[in-house]
Amino acid sequence: MSLLPIFDQNASQIPNMNTLPGLPVELLLSITDFLPINDWICLSLCNHRLFAIYNHRYKSMWPTREMKLTILRQLQQDLPRHFICYQCYLLHLYDGSESFGLSGPKFWEGCPLRCRRLIRKNFFELELLTEFGYWNYMPRRFSFLHLQLAMRRFYLGDEFGITTESLAYTQVRFHPSKGSWPGVTYLISTDARIRPEPPGLHIRMHMYICKHVPGWQKERQLDAMVKAFFQGKYFSRSKHTCKRCNTDYQIELCVHFDQLALVLTTWFNLGPGLTPDDP
Ligand SMILES: [Zn+2]
Ligand SMILES: [Zn+2]
Repeated sequence: MSLLPIFDQNASQIPNMNTLPGLPVELLLSITDFLPINDWICLSLCNHRLFAIYNHRYKSMWPTREMKLTILRQLQQDLPRHFICYQCYLLHLYDGSESFGLSGPKFWEGCPLRCRRLIRKNFFELELLTEFGYWNYMPRRFSFLHLQLAMRRFYLGDEFGITTESLAYTQVRFHPSKGSWPGVTYLISTDARIRPEPPGLHIRMHMYICKHVPGWQKERQLDAMVKAFFQGKYFSRSKHTCKRCNTDYQIELCVHFDQLALVLTTWFNLGPGLTPDDP
């Protein structure tokens, strides 16, 4: 059901009796007997009169989250600049800026949505955090919001979502030697691209291995690589797949400018971004 033509009417005008909003109250109320509740809640948002008539009927109800999502999805079809927030179950306006992306010195610092700054940890999020001893890096949280907005741009057009470039991130850090730890230079990066068939957002991240892989397994895989390297192979590479989430990752050991370099690469397929429940 498209609602926008009725939205355009001036709210102060008395609707014509020949139109849907101008029908007598009794008829308008009896219409609700033939519509699912989500449809007549959407209908009530078309103008002030319909809202006044229908609102007193449903205001005592507490719609479930599922029902709210059904209504929001219907409204979103007519309001493509808005997107569903799965944190607060509202439609938020996408203002066309890239501030919704990952770029910036800290995650969410530039995001215009207050609800994103209050977001609960692990709420549809992928925490892009590397953990290597005392070398803690600035955590980057990739949320469903990023996937949703990047895919909306792909589905609807440039003005409806963020670019995949706004999801790219690069950080270079040098850690001087400390105690028994040698000095190390780290390069952490993420980049994203959308594949059209089947539609999905793919993230490539360096210096990260899926959190489902236990520490002992990572150590064993790294040990095997180091062993092969010192046995005379000056380049060694192994590929693995996380059994829990099917994420592929690769470990490489090579010599780069006379220095030993460890390269960890993980590829995530985050799916089509239609709902947080997408595979
Ligand atoms: Zn929100
Ligand atoms: Zn995993």
